[in-house]
Amino acid sequence: MGKTILITGANRGIGLELTREFSAHGWRVLACCRDPQVAGELKNLAERLPEALRIFPLEVTDSARIQELSAVLADEAIDILLNNAGVSGPERQDFGAIDTDAWLRTFRINSIAPLDMAAAFVEQVARSRRKIIATVGSQLGSLTENTEGGMYAYRSSKAAAHMVTKNLAIDLHDRGIIAVALHPGWVRTRMGGPEAPVMPRQSAAELFQVLTSLTLKDSGKLWAHTGQVLPW
Ligand code: NDP
Repeated sequence: MGKTILITGANRGIGLELTREFSAHGWRVLACCRDPQVAGELKNLAERLPEALRIFPLEVTDSARIQELSAVLADEAIDILLNNAGVSGPERQDFGAIDTDAWLRTFRINSIAPLDMAAAFVEQVARSRRKIIATVGSQLGSLTENTEGGMYAYRSSKAAAHMVTKNLAIDLHDRGIIAVALHPGWVRTRMGGPEAPVMPRQSAAELFQVLTSLTLKDSGKLWAHTGQVLPW
């Protein structure tokens, strides 16, 4: 049986590399991005892999569009639903200097959209063989690992995404669905910046290993790209 992954934010950064990685391993990829028109690298990849890679427009804060896409893909079995799309939030987000509207928008994208996606695609995931819902969280969203403070919007939105994951792991356990959060490393993307030590390709290759090794007992945890479990 073919293996299928749906990835949000697949046009650049870690999402694009995950798309490359999974298609290179023979997976079918349902690659979602806000604006396929300007997703040059993703479109080039899709031209080379017409059978394996399909591109769908998806703004993850648009719940109506999420429902529409779920209806279009109603007959699919989705082995991995990968909520990768994310933002770092407002430029200034230190104590006493935060734009609360921008914080709310950060929540909408990083914490609420993953649950919206899970609810819309749960049937397609449940009928697949692997049954995985993965959300790219962050070590910066770990309460235990927070020793530096700051980054209120990003940290709190990723901590909320982690809680959504933990809830999904509990609520969907009886359907055999595995829900995990992922820490991809500090990765050299537009978000991670030029100083980041991990290249997107390495992160994607390591996340591939993590995702394809998961079993139900691994659900409800924050997995680093290295294969380590990080504390919430
Ligand atoms: P990038 O900024 O390179 O890419 C972000 C992706 O998310 C883009 O494809 C972007 O699309 C998409 N996106 C943002 N907002 C929306 C939206 N509203 N609807 C649909 N797509 C959206 O970041 P990374 O690749 O580095 O990050 C990917 C994930 O990894 C994020 O969740 C991030 O928080 C997480 N992460 C990254 C780390 C790093 O060091 N890079 C560390 C820890 C976690 P568009 O091109 O249209 O803007």
